[in-house]
Amino acid sequence: MPRESGTAVVAGVPVDTRHWIGGERVDSAGTFTDLSPIDGSELAEIARGTATEAAAAVAAAKAAFAGWAATPPAERARVLHSIADGVERRLDDLAIVETTDNGALLRSHRRGVMPRVAHNFRFFADWLLTLGHDDFETRGHTNHVDWDPAGPCVLITPWNAPLMLATWKVAPALAAGNTVVLKPAEWSPLTASLLADIAAEAGLPAGVLNIVQGYGAEIGDALTSHPDVRRISFTGSVPTARRIAASAAPQLTPVSLELGGKSPLLVFADADLDLAVDLAVEQYDNAGQVCLAGTRLLVEEAVAEEFTRRFTEKASALRQGDPRDETTDIGPVIHTRQLEKIDGFVRRAVSAGARTVIGGQPRGGNFYAPTLLTDVAQDSEIVQEEVFGPVLTLQTFTGEDEAVRLANDTRFGLAATLVTGDRERADRVSAQLVAGTVWVNCFFVRDLQAPFGGSRQSGVGREGGTWSFDFYCDLKNTVTAPKGWQDRG
Ligand code: NAD
Repeated sequence: MPRESGTAVVAGVPVDTRHWIGGERVDSAGTFTDLSPIDGSELAEIARGTATEAAAAVAAAKAAFAGWAATPPAERARVLHSIADGVERRLDDLAIVETTDNGALLRSHRRGVMPRVAHNFRFFADWLLTLGHDDFETRGHTNHVDWDPAGPCVLITPWNAPLMLATWKVAPALAAGNTVVLKPAEWSPLTASLLADIAAEAGLPAGVLNIVQGYGAEIGDALTSHPDVRRISFTGSVPTARRIAASAAPQLTPVSLELGGKSPLLVFADADLDLAVDLAVEQYDNAGQVCLAGTRLLVEEAVAEEFTRRFTEKASALRQGDPRDETTDIGPVIHTRQLEKIDGFVRRAVSAGARTVIGGQPRGGNFYAPTLLTDVAQDSEIVQEEVFGPVLTLQTFTGEDEAVRLANDTRFGLAATLVTGDRERADRVSAQLVAGTVWVNCFFVRDLQAPFGGSRQSGVGREGGTWSFDFYCDLKNTVTAPKGWQDRG
């Protein structure tokens, strides 16, 4: 019997598994199976989008654009706040569906991630109302800057923080007056569908938000090469970013690319060592599937032994298990393919001479033991390439110059974390680090008004606060002379 998409019940929550195009549920001829990383169970048959659905979604976004762009900012902001209300009302549903679908901790989804999803809508709704008040004068002439919506936007997102990363793009794109086609990742497609329900209930007009499901390789090009698309914002891996940039190039469609990293976490001998250990162990959050994770621990020689002892003690106490359990610290990785990829990295590192301090092997199902490798060469694969799993390396350094040299010596530049008790050292070192975000004595503090993105191959462009509107708007400066008016009074 052919498998069909429609409605699945996931952890007791009904989820529509079809596309959302022009305010209607739309099916595809084919489906793909969505698995839970927790136990490998089949959760749903998801509509498997093709170029046909991609074209229909862009056409719906184009048709809805004029109406939404002309909607006064205050009304757009009201609808976005109403979506945030819906997210808060359905917070428990969203949290359990996301956990079941991507394996990240339920307690994090409840307390941190889903409130943040609501905040994405509220923040960009409020920020929208601050724009367009920057008039200035040139020899008596008035310059007025308009933040015009750009048009239909294609937003493509990964599986590691599905709804949070999707709404970090959807909210500013809609706030700016654009219409959207969102393509969630095929390994975690469910909460995007719930967002469609919430947006419709909140009164977002049909066609303003469209969601197409499917494999990136099958549906992606039809979206990113479409001549009616005015912006493409992508979060994901470097190889996919290259394909998207190439596909967008003939139309010169502007792209925002938020990509991977191999971020350093530097621990100086003058650091509060307990804080340094806490921050280092935090890098295993979401089973290490965090783009910003400081996966390269760089520790000053003088404290390396003591740091390693305390780190090992703390990391070994982490509880790995069912992410729905309140006491679990680390859940599964997203997919058996990801697990095999992680294990491959570790095996090759060990063959190349790395020493396993902790972990280093799968633990059954999609669980991979939190791993620390040392005796790794700077030019080795495990130091240079993103693993995207619970695998850290530890290298030592002597002095600031060597710390900075090692920290900057990859093709990435997403983030860096610096632990030191010396304020002047913090200023000196952070000024030399190549990274979109530097955290000093903290990690993962992210304000939506800050610019966010990566240097080098960690990305192109910045989003957040004004930078999001810079990207999602066409800025227009109108210069008006003080004379030439006919007095009609
Ligand atoms: P991925 O590049 O494989 O997939 C991301 C998305 O792109 C998915 O929706 C996928 O379907 C789609 N896609 C795949 N091929 C496509 C194509 N040819 N055209 C259009 N879309 C296509 O990445 P992933 O494995 O899902 O995510 C992990 C990566 O994302 C890691 O490198 C991680 O560091 C990065 N990431 C970056 C950030 C950030 O903010 N910088 C945040 C989270 C994840």
